[in-house]
Amino acid sequence: MENNRIIKVRNRQLKKIRDILRQVIWLAVNRKIEDLIDNQFEVLSNHYLSKTEKNRNIKSINDRIPEFKYSFEKSICICPSCSSRTKDLGFNLIRLTWYCIDCLNQITRKVDINKYF
Ligand SMILES: [Zn+2]
Repeated sequence: MENNRIIKVRNRQLKKIRDILRQVIWLAVNRKIEDLIDNQFEVLSNHYLSKTEKNRNIKSINDRIPEFKYSFEKSICICPSCSSRTKDLGFNLIRLTWYCIDCLNQITRKVDINKYF
């Protein structure tokens, strides 16, 4: 666990506020992704654009969707392994990612096993 920095929230009210904020951010990210998908449909239905312009615009939009998902998964809002948005998280200094304590323990155990092979 020496390669991890854990942030535990012990106060029940603060946990509730943290969980609500994570939910709000999750909803905002999802809303942004839905907007991008709507933009794709608008591009596809635009009869004034050539096929090349449509493809270019669709690709540009497609490239942005994973950026939002990746940024959210890398944030302190969610454990990317079990998708929990309500647990305390710890930062793994080797993977440079936030994980819940349970997943962090599993990851740390795997790393220890790999030392012997
Ligand atoms: Zn987890």
